[in-house]
Amino acid sequence: MRKQLGAVWVIAEQTGGRLAEVSLELLGKARELAALGGGSHTSAVLMGSEIRHLSEELIACGADQVILIDDQRLELYQNDTYALVLEALINKHQPEIVLCSASYCGSELSATVAAKLETGLAAHCVDLHINNRGEFVQVVPAFGGMVLGDILCPKSRPQMASVKPGMFQKPDRDTTRTGKLIKETVAVLEGYKSPLKAVRVVQGQPSGLPLEEAETVVAGGWGVGADAWCYLEQMAEALEGAVGCNRPALDEGWAKGEHAMIGTSGKTIRPQVYIGFGVSGSAHHVVGMKDSGVVININKDPQAPVFQVSDYGVVADVKKFLPVLLEKIREQRGK
Ligand SMILES: Cc1cc2nc3c(=O)[nH]c(=O)nc-3n(C[C@H](O)[C@H](O)[C@H](O)COP(=O)(O)OP(=O)(O)OC[C@H]3O[C@@H](n4cnc5c(N)ncnc54)[C@H](O)[C@@H]3O)c2cc1C
Repeated sequence: MRKQLGAVWVIAEQTGGRLAEVSLELLGKARELAALGGGSHTSAVLMGSEIRHLSEELIACGADQVILIDDQRLELYQNDTYALVLEALINKHQPEIVLCSASYCGSELSATVAAKLETGLAAHCVDLHINNRGEFVQVVPAFGGMVLGDILCPKSRPQMASVKPGMFQKPDRDTTRTGKLIKETVAVLEGYKSPLKAVRVVQGQPSGLPLEEAETVVAGGWGVGADAWCYLEQMAEALEGAVGCNRPALDEGWAKGEHAMIGTSGKTIRPQVYIGFGVSGSAHHVVGMKDSGVVININKDPQAPVFQVSDYGVVADVKKFLPVLLEKIREQRGK
C-alpha cells in the first residue's frame, strides 16, 4: 500500500540576491514528487541576507511555502554556518525529502548536513521518482557510469538528494500562485565562533561560447589524446560551436576547464548537433548529452556503448580521422 509522504523541501541557492536556475528546476520536480506522494506540500528554504523578495519567485515556480532565514550572518555561503542553520531547521520541521543543487556549495552543504543528521544522501542524481510502493527513488550512475542504480533510503529521515543543473525542466512561472512565508531565525548561531570567514564571491568567466548555448558541440574523450586535441578546438571554431569533454580529458588537462565537462558532475547540454570523438559512452557522460538533437560518434571500437545512443556512428581512429574531417569541413565552409 502507498503511504503518504511528508513535506518535500528544496534548498534554494542564491548568490548576491539572484536565485540559481537549478533551484527552480528542483521545485518543479519537488511538486511532481509531492503530488505522487499523496499530496504533501513543497517548501523552499531560502537562506541569505536581504533576500526576502526572492520568495515570490519561489512561490511562482511551485513552492507552497517558503522558509525564510534572512540574516546578515548568512550573507555569504559558508559551510559551517549554513549547515548548522539547515540542520536545526530540519530537526524542527522534519521534512521527508530534502533536495539540493549539486553545485560546489550545494554538494558540500548537503553532504555536511546529511552527515550531521546521520541520514542518507544520494549525490549527483540524474532522476528522482516515487515507485509504486510509495518509496522515493534516487537514480544515480554506478559502476563507473556503466549502469544506472536506484537508491532507496528506507530507515533514516530526511531522504536527501543532490541534483546538478539542467537535469529537470524549470517550471513555468505562475504569478497567480500564493504561498505561505515562514520566517525563521539563526538562534543556533548565537555564541558560535566560526573558524572560517567568507570574504567575497568571485565568479570565473570562461572565454568563448558557453557549452550550453552552442548549437554544435564537438566533444572529446580519452581516445583523442593530447596531440590531437587541438583539432577539436579548430573544428569547434570552424563549426561555430564549442568544445566539450569528459572526465579523463579534463583530468589530463587537454580540455580548458571544468566548464567544458559534460555529464553527471559536469553540464547537461541539448545542442542541435553533438559530435563525440573517442568517447566510450559511459552513463556518467551520456546523461549530460542524451537529449542533443543529432548525435554523431567516432570510435575505433565497433562495440563501443556510445554507438547505442548515436544517430550516426563512424568506426575510425580519431587521431587520423580528425584532421581529415577538419579539412573537409573547412573546404565546405570556405574557411
Ligand atoms: C562519481 C563519478 C562521476 C563522474 N562524472 C563524470 C562526468 O560528469 N562526465 C564524464 O564524462 N565522466 C564522468 N565520470 C567518468 C566516467 O565514469 C567515465 O570513466 C568516463 O566518462 C570515460 O571516459 P572515456 O569514454 O573518454 O574513456 P574510456 O572509458 O577510456 O574510453 C575511451 C574510448 O575511446 C575509444 N578510443 C581509444 N582510442 C581511440 C582512437 N585512437 N580512435 C577512436 N577511438 C578511440 C575507446 O574505444 C573507448 O571507447 C565520472 C565517474 C565517477 C566515478
